Amino acid sequence: MDDFIVNTSNTYYLESIYRDIDSLCDRYSKILNKRVIGKSVEGRDIVVLQLHGEKDEILRCAQNDKNGGFLDNNAQYNKKPNVLLVGGIHAREDFSVMLCMKMIEYYCRYYNESRDFDGYDVRGIVDKIDIYFVPVVNPDGLNIIHNGIEASKNYDKLTDMKIWGEDHTYWKANANGVDLNKNFDDGNWEIRTCVTGTDVPCSDRFKGFRPDSEPETAALISLCNNIDFSLMATYHCSGNCTFWADSGTHTMFNGLDERIMDELSEKYIYRKTKISTDPKIYGCGFENWFRARMKRPAFCIELSPYQEGGKQHPDSMFDELVWQHAKTTGLFFAQKAIEVHDEIYGDAERYAAMTR
Ligand SMILES: [Zn+2]
Repeated sequence: MDDFIVNTSNTYYLESIYRDIDSLCDRYSKILNKRVIGKSVEGRDIVVLQLHGEKDEILRCAQNDKNGGFLDNNAQYNKKPNVLLVGGIHAREDFSVMLCMKMIEYYCRYYNESRDFDGYDVRGIVDKIDIYFVPVVNPDGLNIIHNGIEASKNYDKLTDMKIWGEDHTYWKANANGVDLNKNFDDGNWEIRTCVTGTDVPCSDRFKGFRPDSEPETAALISLCNNIDFSLMATYHCSGNCTFWADSGTHTMFNGLDERIMDELSEKYIYRKTKISTDPKIYGCGFENWFRARMKRPAFCIELSPYQEGGKQHPDSMFDELVWQHAKTTGLFFAQKAIEVHDEIYGDAERYAAMTR
């Protein structure tokens, strides 16, 4: 098993990521395709990759003309369930990007070779569900943590903003100084607080001047409005735990979210957290938005062990700290999404009543 495209032995720069995305789509053209779902503040592509079964390629091509290569909700094809996996919302948490990229490559390879991956039947799963990855929601932020704010096209604005932490490697926000994971209009915008000092653009925790104001936020919203995802998982990097429920939406899932969470914490190291109870604090995150607006379960996994002040672990520790623990989580969520889908469409009326 050599000849891998994605190399996570050290810092994974944006140029390599974009190049690798194209190489992966070339190598696995029958099962992997990409689409640009938006542009960042600085005009970088925000890419979604769709991993689908071989048989779907014929249908996908047939749909190509109508939908510009992408499949909409109403297409016959999309009666298949879909799951969404997201990395790189927070700039400094680049382990989440590395994980998504490496999962894409491994799942493609194991699919092609019809091999189990750590007990998961990759071909069996991917033939049943499309797995969508947005590996880098915030490419401008990733550029900042790797190359400094002077590498940003928005340098003149950013240079006046406070960095919470020692240097640019602590940057979390996008290139407008907005924390994307506090920018989603989940119904809590008005009450969502920014702690003192973060109520203006800065390196982290500023929610923005308006809900859904950022192009990166808009890209994820439009993707979710176009594809019927049964479940979403978003990867972050602090504390080896999972946020799985908030008080604003938990009751609508009738225990489904907790069943998935309990199974996750049985299989993986990501500790089950308490239900988030204060929308002033949890509000406007992507996972909270997804639950509230899409009415489907969403999970936020914090991949690496907690470090004081938001300091990140060295990139070279990715395999040891993240990959060996998290490499099959995408397949786990895909399996759970199939179950959610069956529950939704097996008894649509009951699900609608449940999530009303
Ligand atoms: Zn984060």
